Amino acid sequence: MLQYLILQLCDTATSYCHYGNSHCEAQLMPLPILEKAVLWAMKEDLSVQVVYPDYALPQEYREVIDRVDHTDIVSSHSDLKDVAQVVVVDDWDELQDISFAKDAVYVLRTTLTSFYKRYEELTSVLQQVSRLNVVFLDVEHFTDADATVYGKALDFLAKDIEQLYVNGGQVQLNLLTDRMMLNKMNNCSAGETNVTLAPDGRFYVCPAFYNESNGYSIGSLDEGLDVKNAQLYKLDHAPICRHCDAYHCKRCIWLNRKTTLEVNTPSHEQCMMAHLERNASRLLLDALRKHGTFLPEQESITEIDYLDPFEKRKEWQ
Ligand code: SF4
Repeated sequence: MLQYLILQLCDTATSYCHYGNSHCEAQLMPLPILEKAVLWAMKEDLSVQVVYPDYALPQEYREVIDRVDHTDIVSSHSDLKDVAQVVVVDDWDELQDISFAKDAVYVLRTTLTSFYKRYEELTSVLQQVSRLNVVFLDVEHFTDADATVYGKALDFLAKDIEQLYVNGGQVQLNLLTDRMMLNKMNNCSAGETNVTLAPDGRFYVCPAFYNESNGYSIGSLDEGLDVKNAQLYKLDHAPICRHCDAYHCKRCIWLNRKTTLEVNTPSHEQCMMAHLERNASRLLLDALRKHGTFLPEQESITEIDYLDPFEKRKEWQ
């Protein structure tokens, strides 16, 4: 069931996820389309997430957006960075200069190589934020050889989080704490629980499908939503994911299509990373419980001997 509408306000709106946005020329969503979209979201009872460009919007845009409950997603270069709920950072050097707000979520978009070089810099960030999401721009380049260094980085960050909790602090890091708190799949669910409206007045599965030259639209405000083969975006039609317990995994539909040409079939790389995170979360949960009661309603995460559920396909019923 549809729950969220993502409004990409301009072609140059910040990316907050795996996809890149190569648009250089601003093309702002026309005000009448924005007004119509806000009305549609209200009628459909959807939560709205607004993705902004870095330049300041005309005042009438703010007034229309404020008609509906919404979450603002901006880049760290936006004038709205001190009031937005989600702030996206694309540059590790900038992390040192940000005045973090405890009530905002920060998204760090990074390549794997930069993460391996600089993950220790996240120690001080984790002490200042309530939640940090690390999003990788090149998941498809993750190799078996990366598994060791990625696992080492996760272990390092897990120690930071353990220390913070022991000292009475709290922080969420998507790579390590999300899985600890989940009992079932909590994926991105683009195309199922959320869709994106782009500046052209058309719906897309997510902003990545608008920003990529080979993306496709799934209807428009005028014609309504038209998701072809809608079942393919659902977990019960995902032949590998439905056997998986890396519940925090984004299960990125765009990455799936890019790497396997199927929206419901993930690449080995996406699964390996999610399972390394799952396994590090298991150890972190166990470590935290040695200090006292922690998430008592949660079951322990079981130990497994694979990094890709596809390896276990012969055991599926
Ligand atoms: S780890 Fe792989 S199989 Fe599991 S949910 Fe993620 S993409 Fe699907």
